[in-house]
Amino acid sequence: MKVIEHLERAKNPLFSYEIVPPPRGRTVQDVVDVVKKLAPFDPPWIDVTAHSAGAYYSEKSDGSIERKVFKKRPGTIGICGIIQNRFKIDTVVHLLCHGFTKEETEDALIELGYLGVENVLALRGDGLNYDKKISTGRSLNKYASELVEQVVALRSGQYTSDLSEAQPIDFCVGVAGYPEKHFEAPNLAIDIQNLKKKVDAGADYVTTQMFYNNDHFFHFVEECRKAGIKVPIIPGLKIIKSLSQLRTIPRNFYINFPDDFVAEMMENPDHAKEIGLAHTCKQVEGLLNKGVPGVHFYIMNDADRVIDVVKKFR
Ligand code: FAD
Repeated sequence: MKVIEHLERAKNPLFSYEIVPPPRGRTVQDVVDVVKKLAPFDPPWIDVTAHSAGAYYSEKSDGSIERKVFKKRPGTIGICGIIQNRFKIDTVVHLLCHGFTKEETEDALIELGYLGVENVLALRGDGLNYDKKISTGRSLNKYASELVEQVVALRSGQYTSDLSEAQPIDFCVGVAGYPEKHFEAPNLAIDIQNLKKKVDAGADYVTTQMFYNNDHFFHFVEECRKAGIKVPIIPGLKIIKSLSQLRTIPRNFYINFPDDFVAEMMENPDHAKEIGLAHTCKQVEGLLNKGVPGVHFYIMNDADRVIDVVKKFR
């Protein structure tokens, strides 16, 4: 079923989860175990992240440097297939502009259609650290709005090349939103204008970047509504479990922590896990009180901690 149908039919706010494929060389069992833990909590859908290839360098025994380009975490489509078909839980596949031609994206969408996946989160990605060669006759999506257009075009059977008797593929499309603005955008207003381009291109809903101060989310939603964005906006949360994340999360995701939360964590480093969990619970309570359609948890394959949160609100 599509995310948008889940949202329309829901009698209570929905709790959804985001997992990452295992690193290259590991088995899929770790992810299967995570899904097994989440399944009793009836997840309406599970997102599976996407990863473009990167360049990695290693020193050989003769002192020369070897460069290899590969994906550290392949397997997004396969994992969606497992969750969708073995566990009968709907999946949202993340698809990226960066690192993929439109033609490769189309191939992925065809495979996903065969697997019964009905939901796509259309993302730009964060640039490549190598020069991907694009052969003649192939093309790229630059921004997520263009990827939305490509996925939406399939609803009316428009593929990247003219095909006779082409069948439509009907995906529900989500896009990313940033309550504290995307790091490249000059300000929130311009970022929201760009978000509106994605919605105008046919996106059905928005999932937000993580945030730790609900006021950022409420302000963002208000500004989106003023800008004419009418689709559901689902808040994204991530539970903090260590003091070091107070540095790594702002560096990687360009978000801020509230002063009182930082102070509490720094004064009680041995209780970082409990404080992080309590903060997320407080955020969920505040969001539910304001009538959000659901909460999306970035779990990084740590199911136990999110289950502690979800149990409190069921
Ligand atoms: P876009 O919507 O294309 O926006 C990127 C920037 O360009 C913004 O600053 C925007 O304001 C600006 N912009 C957009 N359109 C235009 C335009 N027409 N003209 C000028 N400027 C424009 N990354 C991964 O690699 N894999 C994942 O699985 C993944 N999952 C994510 C899930 C969520 C919910 C979120 C919030 C992010 C996720 N990301 C993921 C990170 C994402 O790829 C990065 O944040 C990326 O930098 C931007 O992606 P986007 O889709 O928001 O880009």
